[in-house]
Amino acid sequence: MITSEKRDIPFGRPWITDDDRKAVMNVLGGHILTHGPECKAFETEFAAFMGGGGHAVTTSSCMASLHLAYLHFKIGPGDEVIVPAQTHTATVHAVECVGARPVFVDCDPKTGNLSASSIEAAVTPRTRAISVVHFVGIPCDMPAIMKVAEKHNLKVIEDCALALGARVGGRHVGLWGDAGCYSFYPVKHITTGEGGMFVSRHRDVIEGVTKLRAFGVDRSHGERAIPGMYDVPTLGLNYRMSEMQATLGRVQLGRIGENLRGRQANFKAIKEGLRGIDGLQTLDSTSEDALNSHYCLIAVLDEKLGDRRNDVSARLNAAGIGTSVYYPQPVPRMTFYKTKYGYDRAHYPQAERVSDRGIALPVGWHVSNEDCKYITETLGRVMKELG
Ligand SMILES: *Cc1c(COP(=O)(O)O)cnc(C)c1O
Repeated sequence: MITSEKRDIPFGRPWITDDDRKAVMNVLGGHILTHGPECKAFETEFAAFMGGGGHAVTTSSCMASLHLAYLHFKIGPGDEVIVPAQTHTATVHAVECVGARPVFVDCDPKTGNLSASSIEAAVTPRTRAISVVHFVGIPCDMPAIMKVAEKHNLKVIEDCALALGARVGGRHVGLWGDAGCYSFYPVKHITTGEGGMFVSRHRDVIEGVTKLRAFGVDRSHGERAIPGMYDVPTLGLNYRMSEMQATLGRVQLGRIGENLRGRQANFKAIKEGLRGIDGLQTLDSTSEDALNSHYCLIAVLDEKLGDRRNDVSARLNAAGIGTSVYYPQPVPRMTFYKTKYGYDRAHYPQAERVSDRGIALPVGWHVSNEDCKYITETLGRVMKELG
């Protein structure tokens, strides 16, 4: 019998404070709305937070960053890129946008991530790159994946949209491979409304991407001897971030320590609370070396109650607990990909399990200790009612 009152716990909520509002208004009070000091400072501060000799370039979104990576590495028609079946569509769309072919690989049942061995099994003579996704903040086994990449001479593009703060062996995700891509969409760890970051340890990659994201222009504003004069040696896009977004990102990044500590505590509390409940498993890191950034906690229902997932979610929602699904379908089952490449469900049993039987629970800054208790008690009650 639950005695506590009904609560209101959204799945995700952007964390906006007076400091955030003031910073944006300050930029609006000046004259520089783009090409300015805020983007530069955000890039420097983001690189400093990651450590490890990385560099950062602001972009308009994570998908833009992924697209820039493939353009920079000249991956295109005739090439294959290994991608997880269980990810956001953006991971795969970026591959399609340059005309390369995505090769889908199923995920590990405990972490939701690609494993080095499953990647290796998918390598063909056409493979040019691997796109790893640190699923809901659980870092992939990067040392093992980098070995496979080196052996087959493949580029590694890390999709870190949900993994700000995740590390493997002390090295921040995004700095293991050739490129790392971040998202600042409202419900991600930090937000700029829309926005992204491209990171790399390699200066030449950073220089190339900096130009590609601004029309392929050869020199930035500061480098122009005569204002307005520049040349365009390459094709490029406009994937820049504005100064209002960058200043918001800087203030948000200033709270990242508190943000990550809160997530970790909530994740731990909910995971512990769910331990005694039959019929579900939680996804988490399995290696001591891996530091999860705790985007959310995914509980995957066992087969027995598997087809009742939407009922479980609806009952949690009715009790005031926001839930989500990461991600709603394995990407190869989405209509665009199914139509283009066909879909054989036998190839992706684990991706299907996570999409069809997984419930993403909130762990963000807005979730209190009491909320964690309420979430586990309520989920326990719902499982009993349906079981
Ligand atoms: C949210 C998300 C994206 C897309 O990020 P945008 O900034 O909206 O482009 C890409 N990859 C993953 C894994 C995501 O979760």
